[in-house]
Amino acid sequence: MAALTRVSGSVGLISLLNPPVNALSAAVRQGIVDTVRRAVSDPQVKSVVICGQNGVFCGGADIKEFGGHMSGPPLVPIFNTIEAADKPVVAAIEGSALGGGLELALACHYRITQSKARLGLPEVSLGLLPAAGGTQRLPRLIGVPAALDLITTGRHLTGAEALKLGIVDQVTDQNTVEAAVKFALSIPSGCNICRLHLSERPGVMQRVKKSAHGAIAPVACVQAVQAAATLPFTQGMQREQELMATLFGSGQARALQYCFFSQRVVSKWSSPSGSRWDTSKPKPVTKVGVIGLGTMGRGITVALALAGLSVVAVETQQQQMMAAQHAVSGMLERTARRRGVSLVGDQIRYSVELEAVADVELVIEAVFEDMALKEKLFKQLSTLCKADTLLCSNTSSLDIDHLASQTHSPQLVVGMHFFAPAHVMKLLEVVYGPRSAPQAVATAMELGKRMGKVSVAVGNCSGFVGNRMLMPYVEEASFLVEEGASPEIVDRALEEFGFPMGVFRMSDLSGLDVGWKVRKARGLVEPGQMSRVRQGRRYSPLGDLLCEQGRFGQKTGRGWYLYDSAGSREAQPDPWLQSFLEEYRARQGLVSRRIDSQEVLERCLYALINEGFNILQEGIAAGPEDIDMIYVFGYGFPRHRGGPMFYASQVGLAQVLQRLEHYQQLHPDIPHLRPSSLLRRLVSSGSPRIQRWREIIRMPHSSL
Ligand code: NAD
Repeated sequence: MAALTRVSGSVGLISLLNPPVNALSAAVRQGIVDTVRRAVSDPQVKSVVICGQNGVFCGGADIKEFGGHMSGPPLVPIFNTIEAADKPVVAAIEGSALGGGLELALACHYRITQSKARLGLPEVSLGLLPAAGGTQRLPRLIGVPAALDLITTGRHLTGAEALKLGIVDQVTDQNTVEAAVKFALSIPSGCNICRLHLSERPGVMQRVKKSAHGAIAPVACVQAVQAAATLPFTQGMQREQELMATLFGSGQARALQYCFFSQRVVSKWSSPSGSRWDTSKPKPVTKVGVIGLGTMGRGITVALALAGLSVVAVETQQQQMMAAQHAVSGMLERTARRRGVSLVGDQIRYSVELEAVADVELVIEAVFEDMALKEKLFKQLSTLCKADTLLCSNTSSLDIDHLASQTHSPQLVVGMHFFAPAHVMKLLEVVYGPRSAPQAVATAMELGKRMGKVSVAVGNCSGFVGNRMLMPYVEEASFLVEEGASPEIVDRALEEFGFPMGVFRMSDLSGLDVGWKVRKARGLVEPGQMSRVRQGRRYSPLGDLLCEQGRFGQKTGRGWYLYDSAGSREAQPDPWLQSFLEEYRARQGLVSRRIDSQEVLERCLYALINEGFNILQEGIAAGPEDIDMIYVFGYGFPRHRGGPMFYASQVGLAQVLQRLEHYQQLHPDIPHLRPSSLLRRLVSSGSPRIQRWREIIRMPHSSL
């Protein structure tokens, strides 16, 4: 698992060998202990180089060991031994040095890296901290501010950036191991790790706490780095261990590790018809057509171009096309600069002729949300595109199967539902209809992956998975306001839970008119009417009444909140709204009552979760991981809570069921509070672990 050879006469070369990423498994750790001991005691060895086999230095801890009992030698004493060696030790970093891998490199006296290698301490994203000395050695090497940034965000660096920060001593484009051996031969004698003056930065803790939205790991990371700045090394190491012990057993670490694995689970998609990721081969795609260059089409074009695809972008008129071209160029440049990628010129061709997409392999339609317009477009595309071109729609709510029925080849139609801004947001819902070919699903999933998205395959239904679950959540928030809460009370509870924005601030940001239009299309809006029952169920006309007053949210300077001016982002409570609500309640005969944050969370979240169970029951999502990844990557559900379904499993399914029953008794006219039969089945099966839910879902059951 680690081999020692002698090269160039006096250099002991230790190679880690544990494909694919040389993870620090028990055997690798033992291998390091043995080879370091031999190298240090061999008089012919004057210096040591540590590298990884197969072009990768070390990907860090073996995450498979997390759940079980750790055996083998622990990392901290191994790294201390390396650091204390009286012969210079050089890390030769190729591929990646992540987590424990970078901590190993930090314990070495020098680091030589390949310019393209990726370095980072991503532990915080798993709810942990770098607990093998990373929080103590990195600030001593590069200072507190830079170390805090890397440790609290977990972001990756390239070798070139690492050189700028002082993490590594040399960057090479040549053979890294050879460069490291040459470097080792040039070291005269002895060595010392660089110790910089460390000082704490005031205000860091408040800043990190604010952006952590309740996550505890970033806060613990700051505490550990504070210890590095104020305590001697040994005491700092002790503090690091204590902080790690609290994080290790926490529910947040479990939730974050669940997210880590779930991202892989959702890429292994399956549908009720039996098509699967491993039996469906994606079609190669190099050229994509985007129709409609509004908010979404622009972002999609940028994301495609950044992924290296050539794009044919189509608008209706010259003027719209020019405006879009200008906007796309700016977005593309800014994003490429931020990500440090270089662009290949002329990747995007603009046109006002639909025929321009005649030779593409896949089309993504992003025109107005209007079924008649999309029907016409799909008919045209089906005639003018090549016979095997995939036709995809970015619709947020329209029936994919109906769109497919407009074409000659319904099997080639799928939904590709991006989220705004489409070049930034990580989520892509790939919506298959009953007639979609497995290859069409596989191709859309693969294209999403190439665009850097977390692609989740879901079935066709109104709102698909994300927006369908959002409906009861948003409705419940309005009902709470009718009953006595204010938008501030509801939003505060949800933000303290960990959402970056509560329902009402979010709704003001995206525009109240968006939902108004959807409700109008569903025949729910009755202008000027206050009735609270529509289509046989409870309805809150509050959002419609605000829209009738021209209150569309941030863009009009008022909505659920008041803003300084149209377009301003600073939400303030609006006294007008307060008196409007009082008058509304009085006219409805509603007696306002005090609503606490527990009720806000239970009613909004359990309604959302309950719809998630209905979706699982219907097979629209294949498993709870699919729903959770949709919510974490598309809807701001706090990652450290794992997603709505994981959160339900942490709360306890019996508890969720009991509270839903309680609220349903109080509000029998709200159908989405009626507990899902799958939730009942899971509870009566003893509330199994979330990883076992799929078995219960598949089990035949009586529908009584
Ligand atoms: P938008 O109004 O910003 O843009 C639509 C664009 O399509 C306009 O520029 C218009 O000129 C163009 N267009 C209309 N008819 C066309 C035609 N026949 N040929 C070429 N171009 C045409 O709309 P948007 O917000 O980008 O939404 C587009 C689609 O994406 C809708 O189906 C919407 O439901 C969906 N969607 C929107 C969001 C969002 O947050 N805005 C999120 C996910 C999905």
